[in-house]
Amino acid sequence: MFIFSLVVIEEALYLQRKQSCNDYKVERSKQMKAYDILLAHQVKPSLQRIAIMEYMMEHRTHPSAEEVYADLSESMPTLSKTTVYNTLRLFAENGAVLMLTIDDKNVNFDADTSQHAHFLCKKCGKIYDFHSQVGLRKLKDLRAEGHDVEEVHAYYKGICKNCLNKDID
Ligand SMILES: [Zn+2]
Ligand SMILES: [Zn+2]
Repeated sequence: MFIFSLVVIEEALYLQRKQSCNDYKVERSKQMKAYDILLAHQVKPSLQRIAIMEYMMEHRTHPSAEEVYADLSESMPTLSKTTVYNTLRLFAENGAVLMLTIDDKNVNFDADTSQHAHFLCKKCGKIYDFHSQVGLRKLKDLRAEGHDVEEVHAYYKGICKNCLNKDID
């Protein structure tokens, strides 16, 4: 009887998924990717951690812990602001995300851990990625001097093109 009801539940779930089968597959593979990234960086994957990592992978806008919390807390009522912040700090310590201190009012996080520079617009607060290595010394050259450099942060500040264009109008 117990087995039977399990089968029924499984079936009902399956039918539900079948309707949005493709959505489900995409959702599932995103979760798996987030799970894999956490494991690769020695972070024990809990449901909350997977959800936060998944969010970071989907939002390449360098969100702050407050923004992540505001967006996730609706679907995860047990989540707290402190948990989100501590989780993102843990991710950063393990190299799963970058922690940016470009904005002195906020700490921002970035799932793109490749070496790139950031540009903060002082007007709208948006943080842009600069993938061209403007003025960054090669890690290889620094290693030649005997140092073991693990992180490079390059921050540029100014007014972004969108805000500049708005001023003209
Ligand atoms: Zn701007
Ligand atoms: Zn970035």
